[in-house]
Amino acid sequence: MDDSFDPAKSRNPELVANTVETWLGNPFSRFMIKVISGKRENGEHRIEWIFKKFSGLINDSSDETIRDKFAYRVVEFFLEKGAEPFGITFEEIKDVMKDPVLRRALRNVLDGIAYFGVQRPQTTYAPFLVVWNLTKQCNLRCKHCYENAGPKPSPDELTTEEAKKVIDEFYDIGVVAIAFSGGEPLLRKDFFELAKYAADKDFYVSVATNGTLISKDVARELKESGVQYVEISLDGFEEEHDEFRGIKGTWRRTIQGIKNCVEVGLDTAVATTITKHNYKNIEKLIEFVEKELKANRFLAFNFVPTRRGKDIIEQDLEPEEREKIQKLLYSKLKSTDCRVQTLSTAPQYARIAIQDENGPAVFTHFTSQAAMNVKGKARTLGEFIGGCGAGRLYCGMEPNGDIVPCVFLPIKLGNIREQNFMDIWRNHPLLQKIRNRNEFKCNTCPYLYVCGGCRARAYAYFNDVQAPDPGCIHNKKYWDILKRGGDIKLYAYK
Ligand code: SF4
Ligand code: SF4
Repeated sequence: MDDSFDPAKSRNPELVANTVETWLGNPFSRFMIKVISGKRENGEHRIEWIFKKFSGLINDSSDETIRDKFAYRVVEFFLEKGAEPFGITFEEIKDVMKDPVLRRALRNVLDGIAYFGVQRPQTTYAPFLVVWNLTKQCNLRCKHCYENAGPKPSPDELTTEEAKKVIDEFYDIGVVAIAFSGGEPLLRKDFFELAKYAADKDFYVSVATNGTLISKDVARELKESGVQYVEISLDGFEEEHDEFRGIKGTWRRTIQGIKNCVEVGLDTAVATTITKHNYKNIEKLIEFVEKELKANRFLAFNFVPTRRGKDIIEQDLEPEEREKIQKLLYSKLKSTDCRVQTLSTAPQYARIAIQDENGPAVFTHFTSQAAMNVKGKARTLGEFIGGCGAGRLYCGMEPNGDIVPCVFLPIKLGNIREQNFMDIWRNHPLLQKIRNRNEFKCNTCPYLYVCGGCRARAYAYFNDVQAPDPGCIHNKKYWDILKRGGDIKLYAYK
């Protein structure tokens, strides 16, 4: 496992934006990518091999075929020519290519362009990220749980051997990151075995957890097994958190879990689902996360009324409230005084970032310091990455192997036990609908490609993945119609 990957140092976003714009947006380049992609005779992916050789990690050329040699020369030429307009040096590119996660990420993007063409926003060859709900089992009973988790696992969850086979399959197609979630993923007895198995294959491994089971030893084990990023849910201060999570004493255990992760040096984020219940306390909570917990990131989760969340739909924010929170988060992100990175899963965050010419760019749920520093190219890159990544850059997987476009959008697309994953990813009609922004009902919005609205919220309110996200301030008219309709779930948009 090479743990040298530091998203904060990565120049990859600039590379991707410029590569796409300057070099790849024409039929000849697409043809050339097809020529260089595919596998070598030893089964290795040629693009990854080229990047490895380019960065000096391979010196032996005895097993190279003519096609390998040709492909290498083509990429070398492009990178040499490209280095200058990319604004990065040749040596820097070499350095970037030493990182196995970035090599696979770039392979995924290039293969995606070869297969789907250059798009706005882009669909990658395979999902960049899979959020894998490992189990339905949970030790808490949260009101907004998107998984309807309970005290027992479901009987049809993937076994350890099946889960490892899935990791192998994801590796082969070029998935870059796996986020284990649940239920409570740490309740699975094989959690560390699976995390290590994925990390050893150079996946970027993260875990989303309620934090209550993270003792100091568990935090250490997380680190040792190769987990690179831990996201722990916290719904506010003690009283509101315990009320929301359904069990008294949870807050204290969660806080300890966060502190333990920070102490062992794990990249730690606090994730808070923002509802009417807690939104007035968010500024104080950010301060607490920064000063007391010392986590690296505060991630504001957009509330999606799905599964158990449907029962508390009245907790959803008004568009004005959501806008206010996003602006607060963004002002903190801009501020040099605030040490914690404040991000949001609301895709409108990308719109707010782009509206501010001087602030950092934010393109989707996950970002890096380098991406945030992109200036000038922000719009191009923003439209390439595209805000909501559901079914395009990312998908979810249920404990039994059901594939969903997003864990908040529980529409079964197929099952990994029964079908070839790539068949689902390439051909499922619902994914094609989700990827076609021009048909979205907010298609007159100038930020359509940068944001796209949350497809899970659109579906939850309108039963249509191309409907408007009624939480956006630009879609307030739809929100008002929903409100006037009385039954917010049944009202159709016009
Ligand atoms: S109208 Fe749609 S695309 Fe535009 S900012 Fe709002 S949610 Fe995003
Ligand atoms: S549908 Fe899109 S914006 Fe909404 S939670 Fe999923 S990935 Fe995020």
